[in-house]
Amino acid sequence: MRNLLYIDGAFVEPAGGGFMDVIDPATEERYAQAASASCADVEAAVAAARRAFDHGPWPRMPAVERAAMLRSVAAAIRADLEELAWLEMRDNGKPLKEARWDISDAAYCFEYYAGVAEEAAAEGDVVQDVGDERFHCRVRKEPVGVVGAITPWNFPLLMAAWKVAPALAAGCCVVLKPSELCPMSCGALARYLHQAGVPAGVFNLLTGLGQAAGAPLSAHPGVDKLAFTGSQATGTRIMQAAARDIRTVSLELGGKSPFIVFADCDLDKAVEWIQFGVFWNQGQICSATSRLLVERPVYEALLDRLRRAAQRMVLGPGDREGVQMGPIVSATQQRRVLEGIERGRASGARLVTGGGCPAHLTRGYFVEPTIFADVPVDSWIWREEVFGPVLCVRPFDTEEEAVALANDSRFGLAGAVMSDDLERCDRVAGALRAGVVWINCSQPTFTQLPWGGYKASGIGRELGRHGYEAFLEVKQITRFDFGSDWNWYQSAAEPSK
Ligand code: NAD
Repeated sequence: MRNLLYIDGAFVEPAGGGFMDVIDPATEERYAQAASASCADVEAAVAAARRAFDHGPWPRMPAVERAAMLRSVAAAIRADLEELAWLEMRDNGKPLKEARWDISDAAYCFEYYAGVAEEAAAEGDVVQDVGDERFHCRVRKEPVGVVGAITPWNFPLLMAAWKVAPALAAGCCVVLKPSELCPMSCGALARYLHQAGVPAGVFNLLTGLGQAAGAPLSAHPGVDKLAFTGSQATGTRIMQAAARDIRTVSLELGGKSPFIVFADCDLDKAVEWIQFGVFWNQGQICSATSRLLVERPVYEALLDRLRRAAQRMVLGPGDREGVQMGPIVSATQQRRVLEGIERGRASGARLVTGGGCPAHLTRGYFVEPTIFADVPVDSWIWREEVFGPVLCVRPFDTEEEAVALANDSRFGLAGAVMSDDLERCDRVAGALRAGVVWINCSQPTFTQLPWGGYKASGIGRELGRHGYEAFLEVKQITRFDFGSDWNWYQSAAEPSK
């Protein structure tokens, strides 16, 4: 399998002729290759997107026509769901079942934004009364222009869909740079958009490395808006690049999200959601609830249940029946996760379970589900994102203490609270400084709802109507109605006014 670039409506070889190996993390073997874009390809893709936006039909066509094309992309994704889920599993390592959820969500994302585009068009301009009848004022929203979308490897097609679908629905033109670790499903997306009749230049795909393709894309003055999901370090570089000529950015970055469990809840239900909150996708989840705060009376009992549940988890290649956790995405990420675990041991935290690679899996980048208890609040492992299957646990005595510990983080993407007392849950939800709060669950994500973080977890929101507005500029149009009172300048200058 060999994926090309997609620029100006054509699948093309990269200008420099380079291809990257794509590794299956369960076998450690190369299973595909993807084109490696360089500066010349970035120039060509941005120029094509610029032409399509400035002179092409896409931003000017009725929203219903754009929506029809997005719906056929959704249908194509659904038709190929099984094939795409396999691709995602081989690229990323995730269990096939989880890959199917992702692909189905990606299809729905295109359908949803098709509907939003039609809804927004039906609403039209908003007329604004300014208290002076000589002026007729309206507020209009217009596409922001050419979007540079840069995405990570943990949900390859879905993270691309979260940006591409609303941007195209809004009438923008897009240059997408997916992660070099998992580029294959975005190649399929380019085919679907092409087949749906999306005009040349409206969507462009640059697979390639961060430094060689992502950096020149984010620095390009022809890009009006940068939409990024990934690490804080890269987010900072992208913001710096955009700051040079004041371009808009939206950033979805990392987290170290808390999960507060009160003693009155059902511990089995708590175990279920805590596990899902940190071990799903091998813990490679920006919103992972990786800091667990447990009310002291049930602290040891819950730890014991969590230990047993973690030890029962089935690890293996994603296509094997019953597998709950696949490998980490790459050898480098596996090393980073293991280094994080070593820091945990060195911090003096108590290792409850896991802490290494499973002995029975000799091939693949597997890491055991790992739990640390009594984790010091000033330790690296409590404060920094591991981006792997590692849970840190601490006890608390009062609601105030739990909220203070939860909010004591430079991140603020998500948080969860579990208790039978729903009033208390609402109080805690209100007190958490995070963009997403789950009550009595962790991680369910809905396309219709805003997604994004406070503090160092990012800027802006994706998904829902907010995720569509993020690709719009706001324009006021003010008309003066000539009447008997046409000399407004002179009359407005009167001090009596
Ligand atoms: P990363 O920052 O290394 O890479 C993300 C993307 O940026 C990739 O496409 C990469 O090629 C590109 N890139 C790298 N260097 C670049 C540069 N100098 N200029 C422009 N682009 C560059 O992140 P990752 O390792 O792919 O993803 C993991 C991180 O993403 C974690 O920190 C995680 O929390 C975060 N994440 C956040 C969300 C969210 O919604 N908030 C979702 C998924 C992942």
